[in-house]
Amino acid sequence: IAWTVSAALPPSLPLACYWRGGSAMSVVQQVVVLGSTGSIGVSTLDVIARHSDRFSAWALAANRSVTALAAQCRALRPRYAVMMDPDCAETLRTELSGDCDTEVLAGADGLNYVATHAEVDAVMAAIVGSAGLPSTLAAVQAGKRVLLANKESLVMAGHLLMSAARASGAVILPIDSEHNAIFQCLPQGDLAQPRLDGVSKILLTASGGPFRTWSASAIAAATPAQACAHPNWSMGRKISVDSATLMNKGLELIEACWLFDVAPARVDIVVHPESIVHSLVQYVDGSVLAQLGNPDMRTPIAYGLGWPQRIDAGVAALDLVALSKLHFEAPDEVRFPCLRIAREAAATGGTAMAVCNAANEVAVEAFLAERIAFSDIPHVITAALEAVAIVEPTSLDVVETADRDARAIAVEQVVRRRVAGGEK
Ligand code: NAD
Ligand code: MG
Repeated sequence: IAWTVSAALPPSLPLACYWRGGSAMSVVQQVVVLGSTGSIGVSTLDVIARHSDRFSAWALAANRSVTALAAQCRALRPRYAVMMDPDCAETLRTELSGDCDTEVLAGADGLNYVATHAEVDAVMAAIVGSAGLPSTLAAVQAGKRVLLANKESLVMAGHLLMSAARASGAVILPIDSEHNAIFQCLPQGDLAQPRLDGVSKILLTASGGPFRTWSASAIAAATPAQACAHPNWSMGRKISVDSATLMNKGLELIEACWLFDVAPARVDIVVHPESIVHSLVQYVDGSVLAQLGNPDMRTPIAYGLGWPQRIDAGVAALDLVALSKLHFEAPDEVRFPCLRIAREAAATGGTAMAVCNAANEVAVEAFLAERIAFSDIPHVITAALEAVAIVEPTSLDVVETADRDARAIAVEQVVRRRVAGGEK
């Protein structure tokens, strides 16, 4: 076989990935899926399975879901499986012994080992929450193609991640549907050096979540089941609650600032209840480019896996006539104060974003465990932002200290609110 290099080749892909003419990949890309048992992880494996000639799941990783990970190992035969919890790793090892030769690793070292291994081409970062930061950063530092679903790592340490990508040459491809849409609508380039020629604003769409039309008093008394019943997307429980408080949009605002190197003032939030327009980019000449599609995360995942080519995602074609109408409205920061809190943390900068993220994680967990009310969530976050000193996030240590301090304050707040409100 004679190899030729097309002029359109992105510098990040190994030359051996291209056939003559650059139309079809000939080498199977080895993919690590961190958080493989979650909502994004399962969708990723679905897209990979549709293209077994192009992608192979080289390693899978999860926290404690032994049964689900064992089933994925039997079906896909990855080289490695990682369980964050060491006891669960032991159980998985026993479970797989005899009928599956996948090697089981444990803990943060196991995650870092697979995320940085020389044989790996792409890493799907789909662990939920701040737990995803170390492995995401490790993959970026190792120069991998990083499919970034774990928005919390950018919120906590955007500066560190983006400068690590510039140093290593890692390509970060946004998987969050809005950021993936923005990436598709921007002048094509490399995220390490985003091209914003002629861009005046980024318009980030928000579904408004399950409580968009609810009164403030009904929202205050919302239950975890109601908060997790998202009208358009089926997602993990943490991000579902974030969507209900609109903190998800606040985190995404911060995510957009880091990914596309824009100030918060250049990002507008537009509520769009149908979740068909995934986000838009406004240009100085009055043009607005949007990316549309059915709300199915396999579209951005397939885009990230195949980029710069387009591959089938298994998603139904959009039927605009059947939809007939799309709606847009302004966000309400009075009923949804978390959006304002996140925007203010972005404007403050430094470790304020890590503090906001950590306190939110504690508050959401306490709400899901029915230890605080839905309306307590913004108060817990505000208390942490008021109590923790904000500094420049110069290293991972500094960020992790801010995260720890914020959690301590937030836990204290949860206890206080539970006592004040009685057992919930
Ligand atoms: P999920 O709760 O469904 O899955 C989380 C995964 O992470 C599971 O595999 C779990 O085992 C693993 N995990 C949890 N804690 C871990 C730890 N300490 N160490 C190692 N693994 C751990 O979550 P999800 O909805 O798939 O979301 C994953 C990430 O993607 C989040 O950051 C979320 O904000 C982002 N995201 C999700 C969606 C979506 O549609 N679900 C959309 C955009 C962005
Ligand atoms: Mg999103």
